[in-house]
Amino acid sequence: MADTKVAPPLWGRAHKISPLNNFITASILILSPFWVLYLWACCTHYNCAFSGPAADFLANSGSARDAISFVYSILPAFNTRSLFIYTSWLAFQAILFVYLPGKTGYGQKTPAGHLLKYKVNGLNAWIVTHVLFIAASLVFGYFPLSIIQEHWAGLLVSTNIFGLGLATFAYIKAITYPSYPADNKATGSFLYDYFMGIEHNPRIGDSFDFKLFFNGRPGIIAWTLINLSFAGAQYNEIGYVTNSMILLNILHAIYVVDFFYHEDWYLRTIDIAHDHFGYYLAWGDLVWLPFTYTLQSHYIYRNPINLSQPAFIAILAIGLAGYYIFRNANNQKDLARRYNGDVKIWGKKATVIRASYLTSDGKTTRSILLTCGFWGISRHFNYVGDLLMCFAFGASCGLTMDFIPYYYLFYMTVLLVHRINRDHARCQAKYGDYWTEYCKAVPYKLVPFVF
Ligand code: NDP
Repeated sequence: MADTKVAPPLWGRAHKISPLNNFITASILILSPFWVLYLWACCTHYNCAFSGPAADFLANSGSARDAISFVYSILPAFNTRSLFIYTSWLAFQAILFVYLPGKTGYGQKTPAGHLLKYKVNGLNAWIVTHVLFIAASLVFGYFPLSIIQEHWAGLLVSTNIFGLGLATFAYIKAITYPSYPADNKATGSFLYDYFMGIEHNPRIGDSFDFKLFFNGRPGIIAWTLINLSFAGAQYNEIGYVTNSMILLNILHAIYVVDFFYHEDWYLRTIDIAHDHFGYYLAWGDLVWLPFTYTLQSHYIYRNPINLSQPAFIAILAIGLAGYYIFRNANNQKDLARRYNGDVKIWGKKATVIRASYLTSDGKTTRSILLTCGFWGISRHFNYVGDLLMCFAFGASCGLTMDFIPYYYLFYMTVLLVHRINRDHARCQAKYGDYWTEYCKAVPYKLVPFVF
């Protein structure tokens, strides 16, 4: 029987923006830098007590002048040395990105039908960076391991300068010199376009890909270095490193190394395959990621506790279970796509929906939607793995009612639930009836019988 399902031709990023969208975008644009500053201030001035700055503000804001001077007193200060360190860091990562060897990877077809090629050398860059950082610090003594923690305030200012500069550059480049004009999505709303980006794959030349570089290198490579630096700072402060700090370093390192080990897979995730490059990714990669994903090591540095052995083992086990789900779910999708559905999953031949969609150049492309394995349990069971890991990261900080250790779990839950809805709308537009069929076969979005 002929396949009568049809995928509609228009898909990709939203192109109609309501006044409410504009309002939300403006609010996030204005509030996000202040939110990161607030979290930084909690940890730096109040031992990571979440209500610290707010309570002090209320107590010290008898007049507008008092309020301003209080806010001024807790802000991080700019310093040229931190700016120099951060500029050198970006330049060093760019050199590694361009010159280190790596295998060739391919993304997913863009809405305009481009299939882009990438040099995948993130793991090499991660190894070279960490070997040099540890050797320069611990073997040659050029700088203390705690150097990042010592410059945390200046780095926050520097990353914001670069993050805002990069988002602005990306906007101007998109409207004046886009790399793949047919993939541009401009809505006519300056705010929304600045925030969500216009260009799908901005590049300099053929190979310096903004999304692959900025999403991974300056922020995710820094993630494990930042943790090490806070561990070094803890050692300087109390003379040893707590097992909570060691556990957190291990769990974060598993996530980060996995990311670079599977960097080829990352080319086909939503970040690279679907998101456009604007403030959300530019500022997000340079500021949000390093300053909020590492809050737990900052917390443990300020609140050094040792976990009991059973707690240590239980938290490690939860983290590893989360990692197992996350990695295997993502692998199942990757394998099924690579071998056109002709694979075994959990010992049985994979069941799939053979879908098709149109790109804006009018060509039909075929794709696979898995309906078995983790993708048969719920439509985003890979996110459950992520959330379990996030819980383990928070629990590494000890049994506490403080919000900062669990901030990342809270944030990821909001991010992933929003992403599920965003992804559902995009897949519905891309696959049409095929997506409806998939949703019937796998009715739950995240947790069976719950959501
Ligand atoms: P997914 O890996 O879940 O990718 C969703 C895409 O996969 C869909 O848009 C669709 O794309 C395709 N797809 C959907 N259903 C199926 C199916 N049944 N079979 C095959 N393909 C399907 O999402 P993400 O890219 O968001 O996440 C990747 C990983 O990264 C996740 O584990 C997530 O938790 C993690 N992550 C981590 C973040 C962090 O900051 N730490 C942030 C975001 C994600 P297509 O158009 O190709 O069909």
